[in-house]
Amino acid sequence: MTQHRQWLIADRPNGRPLKDSDFELVARDVKPPGPGEVLLKTRYLGFDPAQKGWMENIGGYVAPTEIGEVMRGSGIGEVIESNHPKYQPGDLVAGMLCWQEMPTIPGDGLEKIKDPALATAYLGALGTTGMTAYFGFIRVGKPQPGDTVVVSGAAGATGSVVGQIAKIMGCRVIGIAGGADKCAWIVEECGYDAAIDYKSENVRERLAELCPNGIDVVFDNVGGTILNDMLAKIALHARVVICGGISRYTLGKMPAGPENYFNLIFMRATMAGFIVLDWMNEYPMARRRMTQWIRDGRIRYKEDVQEGFENTPRTLMRLFEGKNFGKQMLKVS
Ligand code: NAP
Repeated sequence: MTQHRQWLIADRPNGRPLKDSDFELVARDVKPPGPGEVLLKTRYLGFDPAQKGWMENIGGYVAPTEIGEVMRGSGIGEVIESNHPKYQPGDLVAGMLCWQEMPTIPGDGLEKIKDPALATAYLGALGTTGMTAYFGFIRVGKPQPGDTVVVSGAAGATGSVVGQIAKIMGCRVIGIAGGADKCAWIVEECGYDAAIDYKSENVRERLAELCPNGIDVVFDNVGGTILNDMLAKIALHARVVICGGISRYTLGKMPAGPENYFNLIFMRATMAGFIVLDWMNEYPMARRRMTQWIRDGRIRYKEDVQEGFENTPRTLMRLFEGKNFGKQMLKVS
């Protein structure tokens, strides 16, 4: 029987950064596909900050994880054997492949990749990341032409797409990102009107300079002091979209509320969180729109591709160290 490798959850990283011993590498027999199942060869894995939260069992919006289970995660695979009418050997599919080299999983719930040239985009701009940018910004941020939009985590997989959708919607967009390279990229490649390097600049002062009439839409991926600085500059009737709070993900507890939240009252503003999965039924529509924008060159994206299945946990860790430049993924085979 052929064997393949899997990464299991070995510990819960609550209140601390991820470490190597949170994961265990094992070799197991490849399982032949049962009725409705497909056997895949994993080509790429995609990485999301939420994966750490799943290991911690916080949030409650996905089924709890167990110690010893195969680590959850998205991926792209090639169909090797199929007992599902929708798939033939050789097809490329995207879905929750988990951290394993040869997954045997139900065919329902997988997405067939129609255009192999855009395959890796199914982990980024056309995958959960792009859907998060699309629905979070449009449905929760409710942008209007002429709005001033500020995005934190602006050079990240989600943030960079938000900024470009904002430009398509006729907004003025400022991004907050870590480091000169990322700041240059969002302005030169993604069309942001300005960038703030939170590692070398005073965010609050720069926002005051760049947003003299206040911020109409905040799209926050980071939380902490950066969210607080953005709240200090919101405009009348602003919409504050809470997408993520990556600065919190290594704390052992929820952070204290931002002291500038009272501005929501003075500015008659709203602050709302969201989980992208709530729009799953509308992904095909959004994906068609995003595909067209990509083909038209109106949305660009960057991919940070690491290599080697043995490097899977370390690749996830890169997200929390700001080492990824673009959608974090790993080429497995
Ligand atoms: P990403 O932005 O591509 O990568 C994470 C980035 O976060 C890093 O590159 C780093 O960029 C920044 N970062 C890390 N630690 C930080 C810190 N302490 N302070 C400030 N910035 C820090 O990842 P992504 O997959 O697109 O996710 C972005 C956010 O969206 C995450 O918060 C994620 O949880 C959230 N999200 C939410 C939903 C939802 O449904 N609500 C769905 C998907 C993702 P710099 O180098 O610029 O610091």
